[in-house]
Amino acid sequence: MKRLLLIDRDGTLIIEPPVDFQVDSLAKLEFYPKVISNLAKIARELPYELLMVTNQDGLGTESFPEENFWPAHHKMLTTFANEGIAFRDVLIDRSFPHENSPTRKPKTGLLTPYLKAGEYDFTRSFVIGDRLTDMELAYNLGARGILIHNPIHDLSFSNPAVENVIELITTDWEEVYQFLALEEQAYSRQFRNASIVRKTNETQIQIDLELDGQAKYDINSGLDFLDHLLEQFAKHSRINLKIDAQGDLHIDEHHTVEDVAITLGEAFTKALGSKRGIERYGFFILPMDEAQAQVAIDFSGRSYLVWDVPFSRERVGDVPTELFEHFFKSFSDNCKCTLHIKAEGKNAHHVIEAVFKSFARACKLAFQRTEYGDLPSTKGVL
Ligand SMILES: [Mg+2]
Repeated sequence: MKRLLLIDRDGTLIIEPPVDFQVDSLAKLEFYPKVISNLAKIARELPYELLMVTNQDGLGTESFPEENFWPAHHKMLTTFANEGIAFRDVLIDRSFPHENSPTRKPKTGLLTPYLKAGEYDFTRSFVIGDRLTDMELAYNLGARGILIHNPIHDLSFSNPAVENVIELITTDWEEVYQFLALEEQAYSRQFRNASIVRKTNETQIQIDLELDGQAKYDINSGLDFLDHLLEQFAKHSRINLKIDAQGDLHIDEHHTVEDVAITLGEAFTKALGSKRGIERYGFFILPMDEAQAQVAIDFSGRSYLVWDVPFSRERVGDVPTELFEHFFKSFSDNCKCTLHIKAEGKNAHHVIEAVFKSFARACKLAFQRTEYGDLPSTKGVL
């Protein structure tokens, strides 16, 4: 389910003028310190949709004419957009407090479409704001709160349950980013799973993957030798892997081998999530009797396959040897990883089994968690 950051405007994104509490001219537009750089990182790295939710008392009346409001508001939105910060929607309530409108924060009327759709997980969404009403909105939505602290606002909680929704009190947007990044990391550490269903006219495939598994596997691809190799892969990477594939084997093995690899690559992409806190690189040289395989992998976000694996015969079991390169190309394309695979040996069965075992160990090294929890890239995204 999707998640929201419901962000207040005045006092949270921009400075609220302490005298009249109205940003009604360009001269009064001043961004909250560090909000642009940190909200840009949140927008780029974290899986939230951004919603602005703001009360603008009497907007459109004599006390707050629209022509005084929009220039500064649009300037603010353009500045954010230029830094990659796009708001899914901007929800403005124009009522006065005494009107007790159902759309005025902390009431949830403005958010009715989001509450009705059932596609948002409010328990994992946050309201970020500087007033008690923002935290009450979080409480009313079943969401959580981040309070941008301003001592001029009254924070006497009549309902202690509202205080309990506040998970961070800060005056620093960098802390907001760090808190949300850690929150995401803790969640993705908890569950690194994926279930993918892929149906075409050629194959129907379901894959269930748990990266932090116990090497439990149940593989049924319709090709016995491919099952054997994928069982080796699950065993030696310690993942839990369930594969159910029904392919057009009456034509040949090509579509089934290809589509299992595509779906497995998609499952890895999903289970790895943001890739924060993983090693990223893995490499392993593995002997098997006279054969030797070496596999190096980088979960780089880019697909590339280097394949140097000669075979001495056309088939091993019920799988043509030419399809092994295609398997790893399809995996690399859909997992968006770089894969270098080299192997040699006299016995083709040993060669490809060594490749799959080495692939398993290299993957295990690359997806294992680090103690640091950061993204292993200076680019900021993988
Ligand atoms: Mg505010």
